[in-house]
Amino acid sequence: MYSLVIHGGAGDLSKKAIKELTEKTGITDLEKRYETALKECCELGEKVLKNNGSAKDAVLQCISFMENNYLFNAGKGSSANCKKKFRLEASIMNGKDGSYGACALINKVKNPIKLAEKIMSSKKVAKFIGGSHATYKLAKEYDLETVSPRYFRSKYRTKLNNINKHHNYGTVGAVALDTFGNIVAGTSTGGLFEKEKGRIGDTAIPNISTFADNKIGGISLTGKGEYIIKKAIAYDIIARMKYKNISMEKAIKEILPQLEKNNVGIIGIDAKTGKTSMNFNTKRMFRGNIENSKSLNNRKKQNIPNIAIW
Ligand code: ASP
Repeated sequence: MYSLVIHGGAGDLSKKAIKELTEKTGITDLEKRYETALKECCELGEKVLKNNGSAKDAVLQCISFMENNYLFNAGKGSSANCKKKFRLEASIMNGKDGSYGACALINKVKNPIKLAEKIMSSKKVAKFIGGSHATYKLAKEYDLETVSPRYFRSKYRTKLNNINKHHNYGTVGAVALDTFGNIVAGTSTGGLFEKEKGRIGDTAIPNISTFADNKIGGISLTGKGEYIIKKAIAYDIIARMKYKNISMEKAIKEILPQLEKNNVGIIGIDAKTGKTSMNFNTKRMFRGNIENSKSLNNRKKQNIPNIAIW
């Protein structure tokens, strides 16, 4: 059994809004571009998991892929802060032992998720590193690709933010369960558009937006960072599952109606069943999932393909 679920951010980019954007930006086939990117991302992850690769590898490949794609607000295509500077962040967690790596205020590391993974896997004590210089130095030490801050700028994001500065959608995340029963979750973002100088959001914070425990499940969140931190949403879902012995589906059903509208997108995998969850209280969340278990037959019955994207 293996499963994978990805998100490309929650927000107000409904199909109708995308149509309008297409007209305003002159960028054709926007809806199709998102669909294709999400599908390719799922295929990448599926290839890893199908061949008995690790959940960590699947998450790294999926998130790096989206970080490299200008459509998403992570890596290339990130939103700038109020000083027009880029400050990216990411976190990753390994469900096998609860280890995590987190990094923030990045402006020269091409793939923040790779840096988060190196921090997680290293023997060093510090697991959350922030700051342009510190993260750059660390990336060099780990032989990761570094770039000029200009790399993160994209015409697409500039156009989007000119039309509506609240169009922040595009944070990315992935949760994978591999055939060995390991769960890994990761999240990466450029953060809110015009965010305050020095602001660090939820995406960088393990247990808040990124969580993994092989016995319970894995989660990645997107939405309004300050609200997600205030409500400790990832851990709230996990705690409900742990102490009430309920499924992830049920835990999310309990918590979602209590959350302020238009604030949150959640993806996750329940460790017991491998079932994926994708819930949000915004207009839309770009998302895709693969389930390779008993539920595959159910998907066939419901006419949902093995890889499904929305
Ligand atoms: N959570 C991210 C932040 O607040 C933004 C997002 O997920 O869209 O930085």
